[in-house]
Amino acid sequence: MAQIYFTDGSELPVSNIYCIGRNYAAHAAELNNPLEPEPLVFIKPTSAILQECQDIQLPAFSSDVHFECELVLVVGRGGKHIAEDTALDHIAGYGVGLDLTARDLQAVAKQKGSPWTLAKGFDGAACLSRFLPRDTLANPATCRFSLDINGQRRQSGDCSQMLHPLPRLITLLSRYFSLQAGDLIYTGTPEGVGPLHAGDRLLLDLAGQLKAEFKVAG
Ligand code: ZN
Repeated sequence: MAQIYFTDGSELPVSNIYCIGRNYAAHAAELNNPLEPEPLVFIKPTSAILQECQDIQLPAFSSDVHFECELVLVVGRGGKHIAEDTALDHIAGYGVGLDLTARDLQAVAKQKGSPWTLAKGFDGAACLSRFLPRDTLANPATCRFSLDINGQRRQSGDCSQMLHPLPRLITLLSRYFSLQAGDLIYTGTPEGVGPLHAGDRLLLDLAGQLKAEFKVAG
């Protein structure tokens, strides 16, 4: 069973993986996606989790796997119909991850109006760092995160630029789903997404407090 690892040594089994799409205006624009009043929501299976320091295996069924660097929340206390003003009390920690996306499969799915399950849910498509316990991250609402590939900055995220801030995401999800301890929430990617190549070395950073490394196999 997939686990979440905190920097203080504690662990939590993963429950569900919720993902938010179109939460940064500049990223929606780079993919020609319209902005909606509510963000897009999809899920990944727990078999998609790939922990830091493991190699990313590019799947044979895609020739265009994109990185999407995202702030990831882990739920500590579950709930249904969670109010925005207490929403962050339900979060146990903050990490950074990659919502890997087979962009070619996703394009076909978009065209057909089919779900994104195959494009977003394959093995290794949910890359994950360890987690900072929630009190360790000074100000989640304005925190920054980044992705460097082969030493070059490719994505920079600033949570203050989210179209739907963290409390609203938790409130929204808990309207439809009973959130549980161990649920992960990928909160959407800023602009700068692009394809991965064999041999790429990735370095993810959260607020200068947490780093995670991945290498693309091959
Ligand atoms: Zn994403």
